[in-house]
Amino acid sequence: MSRSHDLFAAAQRHIPGGVNSPVRAFRGVGGDPVFFESAAGPYAVDADGQRYIDYVGSWGPMILGHAHPEVLAAVRERLDKGLSFGAPTELETIMADKVCELVPSMDMVRMVSSGTEATMSALRLARGYTGRDKIVKFEGCYHGHADSLLVKAGSGALTFGEPSSPGVPAALAELTITLRYNDLAQVRETFADIGSEIACIIVEPVAGNMNCIPPLPGFLEGLREVCDQYGAVLIFDEVMTGFRVALGGAQGYYGIKPDLTALGKVIGGGMPVGAFGGKQEIMSRLSPLGPIYQAGTLSGNPIAMAAGLKTLELISAPGFYDELSGKVMTLMNGLRERAAAAGVPLTTNQAGGMFGIFFTAQQVTNYEQATACNQEQFKAFFHGMLERGVYLAPSAFEAGFVSIMHTAEHIQATLDAAAETFAVIAA
Ligand code: PLP
Repeated sequence: MSRSHDLFAAAQRHIPGGVNSPVRAFRGVGGDPVFFESAAGPYAVDADGQRYIDYVGSWGPMILGHAHPEVLAAVRERLDKGLSFGAPTELETIMADKVCELVPSMDMVRMVSSGTEATMSALRLARGYTGRDKIVKFEGCYHGHADSLLVKAGSGALTFGEPSSPGVPAALAELTITLRYNDLAQVRETFADIGSEIACIIVEPVAGNMNCIPPLPGFLEGLREVCDQYGAVLIFDEVMTGFRVALGGAQGYYGIKPDLTALGKVIGGGMPVGAFGGKQEIMSRLSPLGPIYQAGTLSGNPIAMAAGLKTLELISAPGFYDELSGKVMTLMNGLRERAAAAGVPLTTNQAGGMFGIFFTAQQVTNYEQATACNQEQFKAFFHGMLERGVYLAPSAFEAGFVSIMHTAEHIQATLDAAAETFAVIAA
């Protein structure tokens, strides 16, 4: 038996399900989760010393690869100065200036400690600003686990077939209107009915929690128009897509400006960080400038800021995103070719540095289509790749991530493993 197996057994004594976040438990693919011991560059190493080419990257943050020497050095330099003050530091201003420079729609930004806090706070701000309670989200989009947003959510909630969770008050869930992703006509109809009651639309501008589903042409533009027409706030949840799809996030990539943006993952370089920001007119309603309350003991933590700032500096290098998306394109083209050679129907999606693979011959543009893909083939593919030293997200409803440290050789090794695995699946 592997050490991971023993560690998982021990973990279940005092940790619900043995994990601190549900998807890690491998329920979506079966079997025991792999316990990691260390990671460097494109590799993660498990508790038995087995090395994997990692396409999860801590669910997105590790865009520079694991344990990047310059990020670690920036963290070490801060460590001796103290871990947390609960008072302002210059680093937070440098971070705010940098984020507002990089993210096209941001005049002001506030740091928090997770993506969930970022979306939850953006939502409260949108409601407080408009004086309206109803919100619009899309089926299969995951925005963290705040009550209002855990309605028909993606990611772990989707994997477990629990689109909404017990514990979310029905009275609150009623205020969340869930529409089909990429269906602008449905958005228009809803707003024609009750547009004056809707505080905001919150959307993943590229959906990454029902696998990876980019917006159809005109979808994001249409959301912008509808929000302008009805005085609703447009929130882009760029926790995953921010600094991942492009340096300016999905809003830079598609050229659409939301009113508010939620950030997480890459912005913290692997430390617990989130942020939300946007138009000055809205952000200045936030406490202490305005009446809408939001706070955090560890918000803007100096160690986290150091890791995040160094990450933002390194990803700002000219050509970084061309190189990153080139790697993803090579991987996707190669996977489709090898699947076709084995006679396994496979579709892929890509947006910059993130990707999705679907066991279907159809194009996948929404939740219904994502859940209709062949789950059994995905599970077999996941385990076949794991056995061959490639670590993919342990769920068919998660996007994959490539880092700048994944070289042509790593991608070739991944494709060789995929060719063998597709052959097994087809047999
Ligand atoms: N929003 C999106 C789009 C996400 O993908 C996630 C997490 O995966 C979140 C919000 C929640 O972020 P966190 O897990 O840091 O709370």
